[in-house]
Amino acid sequence: MLDGIVLDLDDTILDTSGLLVPVADRRAVAAMRDAGLRAGADVAHTTLRALRREGCEDLFGELARRLGADAACGHAGTQAFFDYDVPALTLEPDIESALHALRAIAPLALLTAGVERTQRAKVARLDIEPLFVECVHVPLGSPGGKQPALRDLLERRQWRPEHVVVAGDRPSGDVRAGNALGCRTVLVRRPGGEFAEHEPRGPEEQPWRTIESLAELPALLHA
Ligand SMILES: [Mg+2]
Repeated sequence: MLDGIVLDLDDTILDTSGLLVPVADRRAVAAMRDAGLRAGADVAHTTLRALRREGCEDLFGELARRLGADAACGHAGTQAFFDYDVPALTLEPDIESALHALRAIAPLALLTAGVERTQRAKVARLDIEPLFVECVHVPLGSPGGKQPALRDLLERRQWRPEHVVVAGDRPSGDVRAGNALGCRTVLVRRPGGEFAEHEPRGPEEQPWRTIESLAELPALLHA
């Protein structure tokens, strides 16, 4: 029996990399060029793709450094990437079915990191808030990442860590936080996802199970 299931939003529930990241990358590079980046847009995008493959944690800060711009320029890129007006979004049908199936197994909580205004807008656009007992927003750059917010969530809900499944796409975020608290962790390695090529960097980032889509999670938990 599970007490709860904690789900990440970007590239776990929502196809963020397919629907939003390409546009967000262009907006971020444009903002960085406005903020003093002298490299051309093509060079900036090529470098950005390479940094993402390398598993860089501070993408736009590092992009600014590599291309000879200052920290403020990197910050402008980060802000433009995360803070924007979210367009209309629809949930993929198999993901929608999975959310309903998971909700029949245990209460669901959403745990998402980013700019709260943007993350709330994504949840509203997808119309998924009623599926969750709680939606927890973790500000960008919070000390300890998602772990303190996850710990507080478990305490508030009186969910026993060993009876909680944490599913997300980022080994250094979702998996690490869940493992640290003793939860069962599932890495959702969506092909083409922003962190799909990130390998766990140690036992603390090693998931209990790996799947390619959240659509596989209900069967995994029933098995
Ligand atoms: Mg994610």
